[in-house]
Amino acid sequence: MDKFAFGMMRLPQLDQKDPTKVDIEQVKQMVDVFMENGGKYFDTAYPYHNGVSEEVLRKAVVERYPREDIIIATKLPIFSVKKADDMEAFFNEQLEKCGVEYFDYYLIHNINEMTHHAVYDYDSFEFVRQKKREGKIRHMGFSFHDEPDALVEALEAFPDCDFVQLQINYLDWNSSSIQSRKCYEIACKYDKPVVVMEPVKGGALANLPEEAERIFREYDEEAENVSWALRFCNDLDNVFMILNGVSSLNQMKSSINIFKNIRTLTDDEHELIDKVCDIVNDLTPIKCTECNYCIEHCPVNIPISKYFSTYNANHINKMQGGDPVNAAVSYLVLADDEQNGAAADCIECGSCEKYCPQHLKISELMKDVDKELNNPMMKEFLST
Ligand code: SF4
Ligand code: SF4
Repeated sequence: MDKFAFGMMRLPQLDQKDPTKVDIEQVKQMVDVFMENGGKYFDTAYPYHNGVSEEVLRKAVVERYPREDIIIATKLPIFSVKKADDMEAFFNEQLEKCGVEYFDYYLIHNINEMTHHAVYDYDSFEFVRQKKREGKIRHMGFSFHDEPDALVEALEAFPDCDFVQLQINYLDWNSSSIQSRKCYEIACKYDKPVVVMEPVKGGALANLPEEAERIFREYDEEAENVSWALRFCNDLDNVFMILNGVSSLNQMKSSINIFKNIRTLTDDEHELIDKVCDIVNDLTPIKCTECNYCIEHCPVNIPISKYFSTYNANHINKMQGGDPVNAAVSYLVLADDEQNGAAADCIECGSCEKYCPQHLKISELMKDVDKELNNPMMKEFLST
C-alpha cells in the first residue's frame, strides 16, 4: 500500500451528467476502507469535478480524520492565473475549501505550452517557495504535460522542487506524444522523486480490447487488467506515489487488493505488456484519457471525450468484424441531446486543444468523428 495514492479526479457521481454531484456517502466509505488498509495520500486539484473535489476532500477526509494521519496534495490552477496576485487568492481559497492550515504536497498544475507564460512570467516557482517558507506547504513540485525539453527547462528553473508528477503508464512509456520514459529518465537525472498520474491511462488499460485482454488472461486468469498497469508503475524505483483515480467502493477494494499483493514484473511479463501495447495502439486511434479538461472550453458544447470514446469503440468493433450500427446510434443519441453540439458544429477555434494534456488535435479529429459516425440514413431511421 506504500505507493497507493487516492486520486480524487474521477469520484463516484449521483448524476453522471453533472460532475459536481459527487456521491459523498460512497466517497466516505472509500476513504474509510483506504485508511483502514494503510492508505494516507489524497490527491485533489482546484478544477476536479468542476471545482468541488477539494470540498469533497474536506468533508470526506479532513473533517473525519486527524490532520497528522493524512497526506494532502493539491495544485495551483496556473491555467486560470491571469495576474500574479491571483496565485495568493487561489491558494487561500484552496486552504479554505480543503479545511486545512497547510498542504503536504503542493504542485503547480500542468506545466505545458499553454501555461508557460503564467508559470514563468508570474514566477510561480517563487510563489510556492514563499509558501513553503511560510510553513503552508511541506513539499513543492509541479505536474507536467509537455515535451522532455520543457521538463528540463522547468527543472532548471525550479532546481529546489521536491518532486515532480508525470504521466506514466505502460502504453505511454515509449509513445512519441507523451514520452513517459524520457520524462521519467530526466526526473531521475535531476534526482527528483516522481508521483505517477494516469497509471491506467484514464481507464483505458482497465478496459482493454478483447484481443489484448486475452493475452493477459491466458497467462494469469485471476489478474485484473488494472493490476498489470499498476505493477508496471510500481516497479519504477524513483516513483514514490501512484495516483489511482478510483471511482467506486468496489474499485477501491480491488485496488487495495492489488497493492497489497503487488509483485515485480518478470521479463516474460514485460513481453506480454509489449504485445498488449501493440494491440491497443492498433485498436485505439484516439488516445483520449477522458480527463475532460477540454470540455468547458468548447463554445459549442461538444462532448469531446464521449465522441472520442464512441469513435474508438467503433474502430475496435470494425477491426473485430462487428456491426458499426451501435456506435453510430450512440453518436446520434449524444448529438441529438439539445445540450450537446454535434461533431460537425466544431468551429475549429482550437480553444480546447490548449487544455488537452494528450496534445490531441481535437478540431481535426472532430472531422473524423463526423465522417465516421454521423450517418444521415441512420438519423432518418431513428427519427421515424
Ligand atoms: S476546436 Fe471545436 S471542439 Fe475544440 S473548443 Fe473549438 S469548437 Fe469546441
Ligand atoms: S480530448 Fe484531451 S483534454 Fe479532452 S478529455 Fe480527451 S484527453 Fe482530456
